[in-house]
Amino acid sequence: MKPQHVLGSLAALAIASALVLPSRTEAFTTIGGNLGLTQRDYRVFNNFTDPTANDNATPDANFPGYTGVAMAMWKANLDWSSRLHGNGNGDPHQPGGLGSGGANFDPSWQGYATGIGGTNDNIISELAGSSGATLAFCETPIADGWRIRVYADAAIWNDGPTTPNNQFDLQGVICHELGHALGLGHTTVVGATMEAAVANPAVASRSIAADDIAGVQAIYGVAAAGKPIISGIATAPGQLTINGSNFSGSGNEVWFTQLGSASNGDPVKLTGVASNGVQIVVNVPVNAGPGDVLVKISGAGNDKLSNPWPFQPDNGPTCPLAFNSCFTSPNSVDAVGAVMGYAGTQSIAANNLVLLASGCPPNASGIFYYGSTETFTVFGNGYRCVGSPVFRLGILQVNLFGDAIYNLNQNALPGPISSGQTKFFQFWYRNPAAGGAGFNLSDSLGVPFCP
Ligand SMILES: [Zn+2]
Repeated sequence: MKPQHVLGSLAALAIASALVLPSRTEAFTTIGGNLGLTQRDYRVFNNFTDPTANDNATPDANFPGYTGVAMAMWKANLDWSSRLHGNGNGDPHQPGGLGSGGANFDPSWQGYATGIGGTNDNIISELAGSSGATLAFCETPIADGWRIRVYADAAIWNDGPTTPNNQFDLQGVICHELGHALGLGHTTVVGATMEAAVANPAVASRSIAADDIAGVQAIYGVAAAGKPIISGIATAPGQLTINGSNFSGSGNEVWFTQLGSASNGDPVKLTGVASNGVQIVVNVPVNAGPGDVLVKISGAGNDKLSNPWPFQPDNGPTCPLAFNSCFTSPNSVDAVGAVMGYAGTQSIAANNLVLLASGCPPNASGIFYYGSTETFTVFGNGYRCVGSPVFRLGILQVNLFGDAIYNLNQNALPGPISSGQTKFFQFWYRNPAAGGAGFNLSDSLGVPFCP
């Protein structure tokens, strides 16, 4: 077990560069610079060692695809965003209130990183050991990116959603560090997230205060009237409809969270997307995963990027498995007989189903055929399993290993196959060496086809 020590009532939240003293009457301070639209991505490298930092296993529809420390890190930046994240729920400390910044600033969650990254890679990770009372720090300057490190031995870290008083809340502490990452220094306002020191468990730091809001709005500007807004989405298999306002007629970009982890944290982007101003419909890229979706309208500037909205790709209904049916019969080389199998998928869109029949006489000629109904009729040295009408797929030769292989091209079928139908496939083959009728058949393969 990793040695731990209990902190006093206050611990420091550091930045790696000196503060710029405020020249205005508000209490917040700034450190110089801001995050342009190429630096809105953020990720976590999950090297956190406390079991309590990764024990939140409860999924939340507002944070699809992530639990544990990743969900906590994702949430940590969302209260800085311009509008509510979805319905704003998912943080018990601020129900219906996650997304309070009201500025031309919105972050793009990019999931897992594969390492701690460089000082400009926008990755949050743990750092071994401790340093006095410092809990965590953000490496600056920030305009070209940042890095946040959390001292392993500074506290018992907890991923929430509830954090005991003798531990420290990762979401709260990282919400503070992300305040540095977006350009804020410390404030003297008691209770603000950007206070220099925080008492455990730091859960209240998850929710930015009026002074913090004034700070992010001072750096990025109050959310502009023309800023794009996502107010809801709808998904269908492979497709996403985004509803909102202020979308460009052309030249929109749709930003997705990457699927899986990658060495580069850039959002997955669709570019050149058209809109009627209030709705965008796109096909979802295959490398887009669960996470957030954002819309960047044409033009440059911090007011061109929308609020993040939770997004779970619709991968369609689960397709029932293909199944073997009917009977096979012994042949001259196999005491069991030829058996049907398959490779690829049953997806009509993917069009990659491969029919297999193994246990056939090597080099025999034969033919796959299919139909919509089953029959169990003695035929040749075996059984016919597919009822009429049947469609033949072309004569082929069994290979040296006794396998018959056929790539089912749905664009060149003798009879139609569509999603929702189940078809039965069987292999007929010559087998004079077995005597009798001189031909035999495999069992059959029932294939439910899906979109
Ligand atoms: Zn700090």
